[in-house]
Amino acid sequence: MSFLPTTQQLRDRAQAALDRIGVTVPEGDDLHARSPITGERLFGLRATTTEQAGQAIGEAAEAFRTWRVTPPPARGELVRTLGELLRTHKSDLADLITIEAGKIRSEALGEVQEMIDICEFAVGLSRQLYGRTIASERPGHRLAETWHPLGVVGVISAFNFPAAVWSWNTAVALVCGDAVVWKPSELTPLVSLASSHLLDRAIEQVGAPRELHRLLLADRAVGEQLVDDPRVALVSATGSTRMGREVAPRVAARFGRVLLELGGNNATVVAPSADLELALSGIVFAAAGTAGQRCTTLRRLIVHRDVVDQLVEKLATVYGRLPIGDPFEDSTLVGPLITDSAADAMAAALERAQADGGKIVAGGRRLDTAGGAYVEPAIVRMPRQSPIVRTETFAPILYVLTYDTFEEAVELHNDVPQGLSSSIFTRDQQEAERFLAADGSDCGIANVNIGTSGAEIGGAFGGEKETGGGRESGSDAWRAYMRRATNTVNYSSTLSLAQNVSFL
Ligand code: NAD
Repeated sequence: MSFLPTTQQLRDRAQAALDRIGVTVPEGDDLHARSPITGERLFGLRATTTEQAGQAIGEAAEAFRTWRVTPPPARGELVRTLGELLRTHKSDLADLITIEAGKIRSEALGEVQEMIDICEFAVGLSRQLYGRTIASERPGHRLAETWHPLGVVGVISAFNFPAAVWSWNTAVALVCGDAVVWKPSELTPLVSLASSHLLDRAIEQVGAPRELHRLLLADRAVGEQLVDDPRVALVSATGSTRMGREVAPRVAARFGRVLLELGGNNATVVAPSADLELALSGIVFAAAGTAGQRCTTLRRLIVHRDVVDQLVEKLATVYGRLPIGDPFEDSTLVGPLITDSAADAMAAALERAQADGGKIVAGGRRLDTAGGAYVEPAIVRMPRQSPIVRTETFAPILYVLTYDTFEEAVELHNDVPQGLSSSIFTRDQQEAERFLAADGSDCGIANVNIGTSGAEIGGAFGGEKETGGGRESGSDAWRAYMRRATNTVNYSSTLSLAQNVSFL
């Protein structure tokens, strides 16, 4: 384990990044910024009050009225400017992500790159918000659909992608003509302040309405206010399934729209024909990367009996050498868990798994450091898919299950409440296609010969079942941020009714 920076060094580094971005931290005692690297507090912050939150939603609703009639390519110009500012401040924002979320440097830079990528995607999209022309059954009629801006989008985000999730929603929502009100995780306020400030700068640069984006720096109570406010047309919420279970019925009760991106319990099937070296790299990144704190983290490995011992042995060797420690060190691959309670949840899950007959074959210990919660990623061989294996524990635990037939592998794979990401390592084309087929993986993301994590922004991102069913980011996910109008235009001089109905 490498030496850790001191809290003062982290504070100075965060302050320097904030200064370069141009953010002034609202000082106060309601919330605090802390770093999982040392587990200590960095700054005290003033939170948004419920009154201010209500006002912010009203301001965003007002800004929407101007923005919705701004031509989409002009809206794209705002997002292009945001993308340029993100390029300029890539390293600064990555510093803040490492400091507050504990991500290793390369992953923090990757997160900002993802933000730049979605901005570029959204700029292109601003000229491609296509509707359809539909064949009309009536002579002299034209049938078409038009996509219009939706309104205020409330974004609730999780700690583990403190900036990228916001940008997926915001870049797309802005070109779709919506205003955005953001309630980020209370664990990552500095990243939110910095991201939001970069957008404020872009807004000022292009002369867009100042209130188009509002940041609510607050705890969950203000998140609930966003959920219940009828002026918020869409609530896009990313976080635990517990959160989604609370949010979804409340938004439904007021007939609002939700886009839910909730927990995952992702699995990889390793077939007997798999290239095991390829599988090894894919598995280690997906299972131990980001210290197991991605929604797409690989949590279950379903391996054919013929190769399981060999693969687990190789994995255990690699796990034994994983550099754990200061995420700013270039050699580190595993940074800290976000809080002590995340480490406690990991320890409790490992205990439960062992009580169910599981055997820890690598890692699992908490390292003896003052401050941050550093753990060795664990591999546990399980005799069956017991309830703890079917639960998302947000920590680096990889459960290994064994199968004999492909059908059994798919059954084990799908027999969990969540449905986010999945993959298969195989050189058997028929097996790969069966995994991707209608009766194969039931997840929103299904991959072949790569791991479960690390999606590109070009595809739609999200999952089924308890993952919530939402889709964000690329492909046609933009449609969730707009409302569809079907238009029938009669350019004849006769009023003909559909289905040949006669009247008058
Ligand atoms: P969390 O559910 O504790 O918090 C997420 C956000 O929801 C926070 O901003 C929090 O303040 C807010 N919140 C919580 N309860 C709320 C309520 N009742 N009403 C309104 N807002 C509420 O999640 P977390 O610990 O920050 O993140 C980890 C979880 O997020 C994991 O389960 C992970 O799988 C999931 N996640 C999913 C995706 C995805 O795209 N599917 C992406 C990232 C994280």
